[in-house]
Amino acid sequence: MAEKEYLTVAEALELVLAGIEVLPPEHVELAQALGRILAQPIVARDSLPPFANSSMDGYALRAADLAGATPQSPVSLRVLGEIAAGAVGDVPVLPGTAVRIMTGAPLPPGADAVVPVEDTNEPWRDAERPLASHVLIFRQVAPGAYVRRVGEDIQTGQVVLAAGHLIRPQEIGVLASLGVSSVPVVRRPRVGVLATGDELIAVEEPLRPGKIRNSNGYTQAAQVAALGAVPVPLGIAPDSETAVRARLQAGLAAGVDLFISSAGVSVGAYDVVKTVLEKEGNVDFWRVRMRPGKPLAYGRYGSIPYLGLPGNPVSAMVSFERFARPAILKMAGHTRLERPQVQAIVQEEIYSDGRESYIRAVVRREGEVYTAVTTGAQGSHMMTSLIAANALLIVPEGVTHVPAGQSLSAMMINWPETVF
Ligand code: AMP
Ligand code: MG
Repeated sequence: MAEKEYLTVAEALELVLAGIEVLPPEHVELAQALGRILAQPIVARDSLPPFANSSMDGYALRAADLAGATPQSPVSLRVLGEIAAGAVGDVPVLPGTAVRIMTGAPLPPGADAVVPVEDTNEPWRDAERPLASHVLIFRQVAPGAYVRRVGEDIQTGQVVLAAGHLIRPQEIGVLASLGVSSVPVVRRPRVGVLATGDELIAVEEPLRPGKIRNSNGYTQAAQVAALGAVPVPLGIAPDSETAVRARLQAGLAAGVDLFISSAGVSVGAYDVVKTVLEKEGNVDFWRVRMRPGKPLAYGRYGSIPYLGLPGNPVSAMVSFERFARPAILKMAGHTRLERPQVQAIVQEEIYSDGRESYIRAVVRREGEVYTAVTTGAQGSHMMTSLIAANALLIVPEGVTHVPAGQSLSAMMINWPETVF
């Protein structure tokens, strides 16, 4: 397999996404559909509202009866009865009559408008008080006033939601109104997460000389889960082909749709991930002009897409942001794959080595503009720098110095005060 050396970030991302396909659909219960992506368009089988109904507690009547009505010279109408929400009134509203109606109750035959109770001499009513025989109406209204028309919101046969649409609480409400109890959604990606390295020990273990705890495995599993995908933890593989192979085989058995591993993709003698992929799949590229995160493997293990992230925790997390996140979102059926970006004015000088650099920063809104300060030391092992950051400032390729006061694109990994 030919290795294409030193791709730009954009080239690498394009190659990654070209190898990723949207997963097949499945049906989930409506209450489970939050955060999922519609796999098929939703066509309305009913109109909304399904029947003409009152938008107020009031009197259903004929607008023509109210010509000239004012508080000083009200119009008196005979009250035929009352329609509560959920009931259906069948007594026709003839000239000179009205029916007391509740919000959401269907408009009775003959009526073409509603006057709210506030505009009558009967502004309130409780169960004990019988309906008055007549009501005084203090204003005139146009036909259709306070009436919600059939199909005003949605019409039968209309495509209400397109395939690829993200299901939020408001989509859940629309689907419920339309009687869609089982929703066709794209299957959730199952992402195998593997940590590699002889130096790694499990989180529960006490530190020993030369060893560090496996943090990447947890970070990447959490990054996967934060996208609504399903992490499949594959544990730790020491730097041996046999160990890596065994963990990847476990991933295949678990039916993963994508592998993500950290470390072992450099050029060191112990960087075995690349070797295993070359033998049992393929590696498409493995160096990206990006900082942090130069070594990056993309290919397949068997037929399953594989992203090998660098080992340094910051590099791994940033590379995940840049490549794994859009890949997982694409698999999950999302159409918007990128984080939102804003232009932010940097408050300090920034130096780079000419690779496209992702600088951990805090972006704030100050009046009309966004400003950015870096989170300090940018070493790719400095994990706490990512805790303070809500953005990654992107220093474009070829730029080595950004003076204070200049604007850079900031990829917002967290809007201030949001949960993830
Ligand atoms: P490598 O890519 O194997 O050269 O690793 C680069 C750096 O990342 C080394 O300092 C490793 O110890 C560190 N590293 C690799 N994997 C992990 C992990 N799972 N958790 C924390 N640090 C790691
Ligand atoms: Mg290593």
